[in-house]
Amino acid sequence: MNPFEQHLAAVLDERRALSRYRVRPHIESPQGPDLVVDGKVYTAFCSNDYLGLANHPDVVSAMAQSVGQWGVGSGASHLVCGHSAEHHALEQELAAFCGRERALVFSTGFMANLGAVTALVGRGDHILQDKLNHASLLDAGLLSGARFSRFLHSDLNSLRARLAKADTGRTLVAVDGVFSMDGDIAPLQEQAALVREHNAWLMVDDAHGFGCLGQGGRGTTELLGLDAQDVPVLMGTLGKALGTFGAFIAGSDTLIEALIQLARPYIYTTALPPAVAAASRRSLQLVTDEPWRRQRLAELIAQFRAGAQVLGLRLMPSETAIQPIIVGADADALEMSFQLRQRGFWVSAIRPPTVAEGSARLRVTLTASHTHQHVEGLLQALADILSDPSKASS
Ligand SMILES: *Cc1c(COP(=O)(O)O)cnc(C)c1O
Repeated sequence: MNPFEQHLAAVLDERRALSRYRVRPHIESPQGPDLVVDGKVYTAFCSNDYLGLANHPDVVSAMAQSVGQWGVGSGASHLVCGHSAEHHALEQELAAFCGRERALVFSTGFMANLGAVTALVGRGDHILQDKLNHASLLDAGLLSGARFSRFLHSDLNSLRARLAKADTGRTLVAVDGVFSMDGDIAPLQEQAALVREHNAWLMVDDAHGFGCLGQGGRGTTELLGLDAQDVPVLMGTLGKALGTFGAFIAGSDTLIEALIQLARPYIYTTALPPAVAAASRRSLQLVTDEPWRRQRLAELIAQFRAGAQVLGLRLMPSETAIQPIIVGADADALEMSFQLRQRGFWVSAIRPPTVAEGSARLRVTLTASHTHQHVEGLLQALADILSDPSKASS
């Protein structure tokens, strides 16, 4: 066998042995609580479509109409001839919504993080990140060439110590607003104050807060009352609560102009289809016009937490749509996910290396399109699994 084939086969075998082999479920329906997977209908609690907009008729028709007007492909990168009026309008609307001078639309959140971090810091600078940050921020830190250090999760003393040591060049501190696998919110007020004291910059990746948190859905920064001085670099994604695709960085005119000149994952890639930008514009309007979606979500979160606590399940300190149930061992998490599936519920098991060893979990996510009955059904299925000693995992 070729050495590559041999190496890869060994890696795959090891993953299988560890219960870490990943497979892609085949989805045969649009996103929504009733999800068809491999030919069967399940009640799904695993998407990031937090406001239930991925298949909203207005968003669907905005996209269809725009395809009629613009066609499918954007044809080129933004700097060549791919930056359409739809992209431009979306940027202006995002900037106004976030209360920033400008916004820049990227093709994905992964690229927005890579682009912003590598444009802002390099050799001789420092990048400080929360240990539990999203993989795209962590990879961006490595790629930047800046001195990279990770502080303990949401630990202010750990951040303070790292800031004190970062005494050359510029220092960028990057954190998730809402942590994707735990659902907890970063202590941004305290972090922003510390970062300003050290004359550094704070970047917040609000992929899971944008659209969901705060009165107006502006995200974690709105919830915690932070402005552009506190968080000069704000990143949000459009593929989660907005139900579409893409991402953006919002900030000052200078920041955005610099990213247009310097951010390689912005410059050297095809602009996303104009129709996707049009769909995002419609979604953003719904985020403003339909605050009931956030209220519904908050009610379902409260219902789920109360019910899970009665069952004695191990939850995380999360107020957000991400409500993990900590199981522990990888095989137990898989078994629990399998048991739920047999009862008609689709919840994904998250295992290392995505989360720390011994903290495998079921990542339950709630959306505004779930009903109280859906949540009640999930709680009943969990109760059923726990009460059957032959099937219980712990
Ligand atoms: C999903 C996610 C991203 C990546 O966004 P995509 O648009 O899916 O590439 C970045 N950061 C966080 C915290 C995320 O959850």
